[in-house]
Amino acid sequence: MGFGRVHRLFLQVMLQRRSVDESEAQGLLGNCCKEYGEAMQELEPFIYEVNKELESVELALKTTVEEREDGDYPCLVLVNLMTGEVNRALSPFSQQELNFVQLLVAKLVTSNDGEVKMNTAINLCLLIKQKMKVSACEKLIERLVEDKWLLQTTYDSGDVYLSLSSLIVAEINTYLEETYADDIHKCFFCTKLTFKGYQCHQCKVAMHRNCAKKYWQTSKKANSCPSGSCDAYLGPVSSPASPSKRSRVMSDSSDEMEEEEESMEKEEEQKPVVQKRRNSLRRGKEKVNYEEE
Ligand SMILES: [Zn+2]
Ligand SMILES: [Zn+2]
Repeated sequence: MGFGRVHRLFLQVMLQRRSVDESEAQGLLGNCCKEYGEAMQELEPFIYEVNKELESVELALKTTVEEREDGDYPCLVLVNLMTGEVNRALSPFSQQELNFVQLLVAKLVTSNDGEVKMNTAINLCLLIKQKMKVSACEKLIERLVEDKWLLQTTYDSGDVYLSLSSLIVAEINTYLEETYADDIHKCFFCTKLTFKGYQCHQCKVAMHRNCAKKYWQTSKKANSCPSGSCDAYLGPVSSPASPSKRSRVMSDSSDEMEEEEESMEKEEEQKPVVQKRRNSLRRGKEKVNYEEE
């Protein structure tokens, strides 16, 4: 079956939304089929059909993973294949705004866990050549979050952090690979970029939290590095918040390791409470580091 009215309707919605969770995409397709009284279609072959049509206009639907604070979410994004660079990807923005976005992307990509504190992000506006007012910068960030280029997370401590959305990662993937080859990590399993996943401190293998979890569920060597020649221990299976942080902490400091292990034990019985505690612990620590800089 070729490109028809259901495909067109689905595409119209994706042009507006740009990014939807995969579970939602299936429901959306169901609604589009219903709209025209057509039989339900499978998402994967449907996307293939849409992409054949989109090729000539250099757009594509891509399935990818969004790394949110509470886990990895499979999602579907509509990307512009003509944009190899941040500049063109975000063409509705002024040059000054694009300069800011470039600085922010650099900061996020080179951070330990793919996150930058809101205040740190806003202060970047003082570093661009053509200086930007703080209020303008705040508005720009708001717009970037609204348009799904950035994810904004508020922790229990009240701290607000920004990270890259799956949409921007997919859209500027080539730019990231060319500009930050030494700073970015591809998942050992799905080969997509990961910023919040596990990273082996011995062999540098990286993997998404979800990909690691799936692997460890079937692997004989639970919680170990999947690389053939490396058996490094990478941490517990159920790790809601920033495991990369944990593996770094574990190799750096024995005091903090005990603290982490203690909270892991409690997590068994009281998961939500412990997660909150861990977030605030983690944020507290980062705050100190930040002020020392
Ligand atoms: Zn993966
Ligand atoms: Zn390893």
